[in-house]
Amino acid sequence: MNDRTGTPEIAGNAQLLRDLQHIRRSGHLPHALLLHGERGCGKKLIADWFVRLALCEHPENAPCGECRNCRLVRDHAHPDVLYAEHSGKRMGFSVETVRMIRAEAAILPNNGDLRIFLFTDADGMSIQAQNALLKSVEEPPPHALFLFTAETLGSLLPTLLSRMTAKAVFPVQADECVRSLTARGYAQSDAENAAARFGGNIGKCLAYLSDETTRKAAETAAALTAALAAQNEYDVLRLLTSAAADKDQLHRTLELLDAQLRDAAVLALTDSPVRLGCDAAAAQALALRLTPRRALKMHGAVSEAFADLDSNVGGVLTVTALCAALMSC
Ligand SMILES: [Zn+2]
Repeated sequence: MNDRTGTPEIAGNAQLLRDLQHIRRSGHLPHALLLHGERGCGKKLIADWFVRLALCEHPENAPCGECRNCRLVRDHAHPDVLYAEHSGKRMGFSVETVRMIRAEAAILPNNGDLRIFLFTDADGMSIQAQNALLKSVEEPPPHALFLFTAETLGSLLPTLLSRMTAKAVFPVQADECVRSLTARGYAQSDAENAAARFGGNIGKCLAYLSDETTRKAAETAAALTAALAAQNEYDVLRLLTSAAADKDQLHRTLELLDAQLRDAAVLALTDSPVRLGCDAAAAQALALRLTPRRALKMHGAVSEAFADLDSNVGGVLTVTALCAALMSC
């Protein structure tokens, strides 16, 4: 859906966009909206679109993309739209930030009848910060709208969640994904290659196509999955060591390896098409050798490697221990 703002077109999720437009036209916007879905599926793009939808001066045609409010939101310059700032290791929100937002929520809008407070990637929000926000979401000022994005519902307190309208955002079909990538200027073959790896997850495809670290990490994680399926310890250690020189590279590689392990574990039990990893064929090959217990142990080994890296254990030492742990699963 293109709202003529010059911002990237939102691919797929047509029903969700229609639902949100219907809510806007009905005049019954929720006080708290959560957009949830896997990383890279377009939650922030849709959140941005929703803010324009909510504030657009032409409700029958919202978001028009041309009115003053639409333009101010697009430029992240609207005085009634506040973006909660991330902080800390988990990129959550500090209690101080939440208190500041609560104070802001009590202030009347500058420019209409709505103030919107955005908490993107709310998965990293601590229990303390969620509790600090709870009262404002439970008893919001009439003009306040809290908008959250998160990968999973489980990361939010049930008490907070029960006050929200939750809407799922889905990856798009692979062909829609390819169209969206070529519309952004990527070559057809590159777009098809990325879509083959990440299905209809446009955000992951964009990271793969534009970021060297992500591209290398995806290739290493895919090769690691194949090496684990083949029980090839030499290759597992070689591939892990190749990623260990750079901490960011290693982190991304382990994230994608964990996603591959998750896909293999799911494929071992069902034929679910939902994929989070970067190589379905390698995940399928590993699935043939995987029991749920073994999958869980492998996931545990990767989690331990993350904990080691967080404790500043060196990359080479971390991957050597990880290789031994994975091969003994
Ligand atoms: Zn507008």
